[in-house]
Amino acid sequence: MDINEIRNNFPVFRENPNLAYLDSAAMALKPDAVIEAVDDYYNKLGVNVHRGVYRLSYEATDKYEEARNVIAKFLNCAFEEVVFTRGSSASLNLVASSYGLNFLKPGDEVITSELEHHSSHMPWFNVCERTGAKLKYVELDKDNRITVENFKKVLTKNTKVVALTYVSNVMGYITPIKEIIKLAHEVGAIVTVDGAQAVPHMKVDVKNLDCDFLSFSGHKLCGPTGIGVLYGKKDLLDKMPPIEFGGDMADDVNKFDMTFKAVPYKFETGTPIIAGAIGLAEACKYLDSIGLDNIAKYEYELKTLAVTELQKIDGVKIYNPTAETGIISLNIGEVHPHDAASVFDDLGVCIRAGHHCAQLITKWLGTIGTVRASFYFYNTKEDVYKLVEGVKRAKEFFESF
Ligand code: PMP
Repeated sequence: MDINEIRNNFPVFRENPNLAYLDSAAMALKPDAVIEAVDDYYNKLGVNVHRGVYRLSYEATDKYEEARNVIAKFLNCAFEEVVFTRGSSASLNLVASSYGLNFLKPGDEVITSELEHHSSHMPWFNVCERTGAKLKYVELDKDNRITVENFKKVLTKNTKVVALTYVSNVMGYITPIKEIIKLAHEVGAIVTVDGAQAVPHMKVDVKNLDCDFLSFSGHKLCGPTGIGVLYGKKDLLDKMPPIEFGGDMADDVNKFDMTFKAVPYKFETGTPIIAGAIGLAEACKYLDSIGLDNIAKYEYELKTLAVTELQKIDGVKIYNPTAETGIISLNIGEVHPHDAASVFDDLGVCIRAGHHCAQLITKWLGTIGTVRASFYFYNTKEDVYKLVEGVKRAKEFFESF
């Protein structure tokens, strides 16, 4: 698909043709197809699923469950292995609260890393504090990457859970997760993968990876806010207790005993995120129509051009020049990242500054935060040059003091 055609699918670009939106790692923009699918549900149905004994409710249920089907195909898993949640944070917490709090005991070990988003790391910190399990970190290598070699150093027969990011939201590095999963399984550990920055940007096949759990958010892959997915292997989901109780997830409820529906429904308490799920399925179809491999290749090209141009500017520190995905983290001399970011807004460039909810890695890098630019398939070379212009202007502006 032609880039102009792609940009024309996005109302935000039709309204702001010159916008250089470089914050897709925080949230991706929404194409017409997704907005229309959400609108369509509210305009034509707008009723609840699973319980109504009338045509509109049957139709809404069909649409909601068909969305699960689309996502199962997108990930290459079974229908029942797709649990709808509020987003990556909710999915990652579900695994920790259900699997972690119930199945871990003192002496067990959990491996995570300093590259994690808080939503991947903190739930396991909590599980370890509450269960007496030990939290261990894969040491990052000289490029601040998770390597198989360093993973092997912390893996023991006591390892029960490995909680790692697939793609870092600060460094854009791809974790060698497939090899790590294989090694973890050899000692009987399960692996929960934070796929928030991976699923929108590259083909992720859960059967091929053989991960036990994978979490991601709809809003980062052009879908609506408030919807996410937890993929879990059926046998694991089956044995995990629900963490929320109430409407829709109950089967038989009595005064002194109760049973729950089968997976995935036992984890979807209350009225589900119906419009969100329908919109997310449409987003998956839209990404498939462009092709995840094309997306990954295109983003990498933009990132490479940006790194080449930015490296020509004196005093700019790029923390991750070798990243395989479209994320660049940098600082401009001693300029505070938030001060630097303010200059970009005047140029119509949207970027992010701060610790990106990943304080462990910013501390490891020895900084208070970074300026982060993140590319997606709707960005252009012009956006790259605007980013470079912004960095130059920020540098000049703050050097003049
Ligand atoms: N993990 C990673 C790697 C992320 O980038 C994010 C979002 N910044 C999250 C988890 C949390 O996603 P959400 O806010 O959608 O729950």
